[in-house]
Amino acid sequence: MIRGAGHWRNWGRNQHATPTAVDEPQSLLEVVESVETAASAGQTVKVVASGHSFSDIACTSGRMLRIGALDRVVAIDREALTATVEAGIPLWRLNEELARRGLALSNLGDIDRQTIAGATSTGTHGTGIRYGSIAAAIVGLELVTGSGEVVRCSATQEPEIFACARVGLGVLGVVTQVTLQCEPLFKLRAIEEPLPWDEFLDRWDGIVDANDHVDCYWFPHTDTCTVKTSNRTDDPIRTKRGYKKWKSEIYYGNFRHGLNAALGRRRPEKIPELARNLVTQFHRTERVDLSYHVFCTTRLVRFVEMEYAIPRSEMARGLRSIRELIEREALRVDFPVEIRGIGPDDIPLSMGSGRETCYLAVHLSAGTPYEQYFHGVEAIMNELGGRPHWGKMHFQTAASLAPRYPEWERFQAVRRQLDPEGRFASAFAYRVLGTP
Ligand SMILES: Cc1cc2nc3c(=O)[nH]c(=O)nc-3n(C[C@H](O)[C@H](O)[C@H](O)COP(=O)(O)OP(=O)(O)OC[C@H]3O[C@@H](n4cnc5c(N)ncnc54)[C@H](O)[C@@H]3O)c2cc1C
Repeated sequence: MIRGAGHWRNWGRNQHATPTAVDEPQSLLEVVESVETAASAGQTVKVVASGHSFSDIACTSGRMLRIGALDRVVAIDREALTATVEAGIPLWRLNEELARRGLALSNLGDIDRQTIAGATSTGTHGTGIRYGSIAAAIVGLELVTGSGEVVRCSATQEPEIFACARVGLGVLGVVTQVTLQCEPLFKLRAIEEPLPWDEFLDRWDGIVDANDHVDCYWFPHTDTCTVKTSNRTDDPIRTKRGYKKWKSEIYYGNFRHGLNAALGRRRPEKIPELARNLVTQFHRTERVDLSYHVFCTTRLVRFVEMEYAIPRSEMARGLRSIRELIEREALRVDFPVEIRGIGPDDIPLSMGSGRETCYLAVHLSAGTPYEQYFHGVEAIMNELGGRPHWGKMHFQTAASLAPRYPEWERFQAVRRQLDPEGRFASAFAYRVLGTP
């Protein structure tokens, strides 16, 4: 189905695009037709999923494909514990569909609004040093190449394409299906508690080793960090419901924070005091729930974000340097810095490729000038061999990125094979990957 061109913007409202046409294919065949139509008109093609990337990775001035109609669960293999799903299924529905069948993904990020292919295409990750990114769970993949050919791949079928297409940045083709390794539906016990800055820096490494999943924040202008540990458990579900759930998740997790952010934008000099007041409210909480309810939260307050993957061993250096930057340049930062550890994977352009990784993410509420803070953080991350999250803001180019990925050329070879004419090119692709 084809709609007229229109204006598009992302969730963070910092990226905009005006495509020449928008297609809404209803089937694999219609995806192929869209790519072929674009080829005969000399247009580029870009799938836009949920628009939850902060970088311009989803922006296009060519033909935009919205594949939300491709959202079915195609097959479940109960013995292998795998699920084959269409690429446009949003994570929140995928989690529910899997749960109904007694399955779950082993790892998730902190929201569930993205589509499965949107999330994996940028290397979206969760937490846990013994776990990989969401894309690391892919065991099979179907995509439409730049010439409209349908390719199916796995570790044994077209292994080079499979290796690269799991984190394909949208430049290797239109992903139409993925097969995901799951595990039996499981529950997590989540404990959240504040920790003082010094103690956090001393203990982070040990906490990461001792727990399945660890998600932490440091609140700028304070000495307070928070640590959320989540571990698999067979205990019965014990979690807040109704008003209590609303109060903790929506009021404290969003409205209260949104109010502070709005106040801070009007009176930036108040931001440190607001942060110090906020952290006095933190206390230990504990709950047991299905994994995807524990991993994923509701994010209603809009922000912009930069996130870097650095070697795990550099966490304390990276975080200390961010704090020094904020203090030295008297920056007013109204959002916390997030700290996550995750295990290595073998995907050429995954940010966690080949090394245990610490992700450091900096945020500012939407509409705040971010350049000074984000440039400063990027300079720190450059010193630490940082790889920017493909779906988040950064100022790198192909020249600065290539040396950070040992398998850069392997990806480029597959890109030349699947898209020699640059059908899936965009300003982002040219800047961060170079010409195909
Ligand atoms: C509030 C919020 C919280 C977030 N939390 C996390 C987190 O915890 N961890 C983390 O790592 N990231 C996180 N992110 C980043 C987010 O997961 C990624 O940017 C993700 O790629 C967005 O998915 P999307 O479905 O919105 O894809 P889009 O942003 O729409 O697209 C991203 C890229 O994927 C490509 N793509 C999408 N579908 C296909 C397809 N079918 N075939 C080929 N290419 C395709 C697009 O062309 C584009 O290049 C968060 C973002 C927000 C806004």
